[in-house]
Amino acid sequence: MTVATLQSLIAGRWLGREAHTPLHSALDSNLIYHTHAEKIDFDEAVTYARKTGVPALMALDFQQRAQRLKAIAAYLMERKEELYTVSHLTGATRPDSWVDIEGGIGTLYAYASMGSRELPSSNVLHEGPAIALGKRGGFAGTHILVPRGGLAVHINAFNFPVWGLLEKFAPSFLAAMPCIGKPATATSYLTEAVVRMIDESGLLPHGALQLVIGSTGDLLDRLSGFDAVTFTGSADTAAKLRANVNLIRASVPFTAEADSLNCAILAPDVTPDDPEFDLFIKEVAREMTGKSGQKCTAIRRIIVPDNQVDAVGQKLKERLAKVVVGNPQESSVRMGALASMDQHRDVTERVQLLARGNEILFGDGEFTAVGAGAANGAFFSPTLVLCRDGMVNDAVHDVEAFGPVSTLMTYRDIDEALALAARGKGSLVSTLVTKSPDIAAHVVPAAAAQHGRVHILDREAAVDSTGHGAPLPQLKHGGPGRAGGGEELGGIRAVKHFLQRAAVQGSPSMLAAVTGEYVRGAAVTEGVVHPFRKYFDELQMGDSLLTHRRTVSEADIVNFGGISGDYFYMHFDEIAAKDSQFGKRIAHGYFVLSAAAGLFVSPAPGPVLANYGLDNLRFITPVAIGDTIRARLTCKRKVDRNRVDEKGVGQGVVAWDVQVTNQHDELVASYDILTLVQKRT
Ligand code: NDP
Repeated sequence: MTVATLQSLIAGRWLGREAHTPLHSALDSNLIYHTHAEKIDFDEAVTYARKTGVPALMALDFQQRAQRLKAIAAYLMERKEELYTVSHLTGATRPDSWVDIEGGIGTLYAYASMGSRELPSSNVLHEGPAIALGKRGGFAGTHILVPRGGLAVHINAFNFPVWGLLEKFAPSFLAAMPCIGKPATATSYLTEAVVRMIDESGLLPHGALQLVIGSTGDLLDRLSGFDAVTFTGSADTAAKLRANVNLIRASVPFTAEADSLNCAILAPDVTPDDPEFDLFIKEVAREMTGKSGQKCTAIRRIIVPDNQVDAVGQKLKERLAKVVVGNPQESSVRMGALASMDQHRDVTERVQLLARGNEILFGDGEFTAVGAGAANGAFFSPTLVLCRDGMVNDAVHDVEAFGPVSTLMTYRDIDEALALAARGKGSLVSTLVTKSPDIAAHVVPAAAAQHGRVHILDREAAVDSTGHGAPLPQLKHGGPGRAGGGEELGGIRAVKHFLQRAAVQGSPSMLAAVTGEYVRGAAVTEGVVHPFRKYFDELQMGDSLLTHRRTVSEADIVNFGGISGDYFYMHFDEIAAKDSQFGKRIAHGYFVLSAAAGLFVSPAPGPVLANYGLDNLRFITPVAIGDTIRARLTCKRKVDRNRVDEKGVGQGVVAWDVQVTNQHDELVASYDILTLVQKRT
């Protein structure tokens, strides 16, 4: 049987014919692929990203790139079974592969959706509001985030060949950065399969994604300060790459996610009779064995009260004994193999280090993996180490055995538990299992200084908990210190990491022109046509209406109280209102809001299809009986999400700046209203 040679995707061409490094199946050590021997011309790759990738990505705006991400996600989802077939060779069970494959595709969907909700239909992201910098309103300042014009190099570990690439690719793609992906060699065949699919989809702009199989050669030496490098893998490699002279000289942003001795703490309030005790056992066992313990978030240290250690040890042993290890094609199998025999050797050596001075509670007995060829596969027994004095043992806090291996250790009081957790020198995630909000309030702020994410588990959260081990697109992933000090995911933050933030100063009109967002004090356009009668395509930022006036009467307040049922003393009790900070009865804030709508709407049917909310509402000056109010409505921001309704009619989002003022021109209420507006075309 001929063994396929993997190929790199460089400058739009698949490259590689000659076999180089052999890659083996984790299940039976059979030869399955070779990397290619041909050298990659990294000058060509970088030039292609800069000259072809950047312009192609910049020809689209944030919204259009979000749409492409969604289309790619849908394309991959349709072909996911092909990826599962390849993923099997990494030793993963179907649930393990689900996390990698569908977790990765799900991350593309999540970024498509967050991008569509939160990013503009341009390439300038305004991080307002603008702040006045002078007394006369002529000078203001604000922040914008713009594409950097460079490329992103994403270097990944072997454990998540699909998710690892896609979770980094999605935010950098939204940020208009062409990406060069470099998977870990051991499982690069699965990354190659997913990149091949993306390439075949034809959905990516030219140059947006390149793939390196094998070494990165002199790639990092060719980067400039407008590029970025992200890395997931061992702390040693992170330290080496971080110190690359060119990266330092050119101030190339370098983000690392490295080794992490994550922990789970069982709080002292939980007893074996509580459901929380079982939740703790389940979570620890799941995190030890999921993906054969090869997760950057896996629980490596199990921190429990000293009077509970025997009960916890016993329960964990019972659970681990039920885990059938072997070829996932066998229906009884719950845990697959490590990714390679190299990893098997590495984990074996590290378990020996952990065992010194400690006891192996589970995993040093006879172990047989089930299934065809399993005797030659990279299977490893779940292994539980017991450390009776974690405060004096260094190895249990320093040595990460990247497999189904954890150490159980004890504490005397909760502050000692925190001290043990801190000995990990910075981790990605910790779990606290407690019934007590007071304990959570004490533990979490201290744990948060040491961990990128803190997961609190009790019976209430268990119903929906996504678990200790799952990094979510909406939440930050990455931890301080040993964990690399980087940040990934976390919603739109991740896109911002790949953009350049600049402060901009100038007149409000200039800031409005630059940001694409009306800034108060900027010139407005008042025409004969009411802004609500203009279609999305006709509306211009700054189109404005200053309404007629309305004097607020006591009858207004009484009627509004009657309709709303709001008889608060400030509006209805002359005596109490006199004693209040305003010294008199005032109108309901919501009356002012409603009256303003009455002043600015154009009631007949028209292109404004819906009002779906308001942002930034502030009541600034009270409105008293006899005060006269008016409103200014200004088109603040237009976002074209390229959407059509069920009849095929196009529509866009328009945010309107609303200022309600009184007879002294004082601002009484200020807010943005959000509408959907029909397109003419
Ligand atoms: P490595 O640090 O060895 O490799 C990570 C990535 O860096 C791989 O793509 C690797 O490529 C690449 N790489 C290595 N050296 C260089 C270099 N000089 N220049 C450019 N790229 C380089 O980690 P592994 O994936 O092999 O995993 C080893 C250990 O890392 C695990 O046992 C575990 O302890 C830890 N790890 C931590 C994770 C986390 O998220 N916290 C995740 C996974 C692993 P190549 O494979 O071609 O060498």
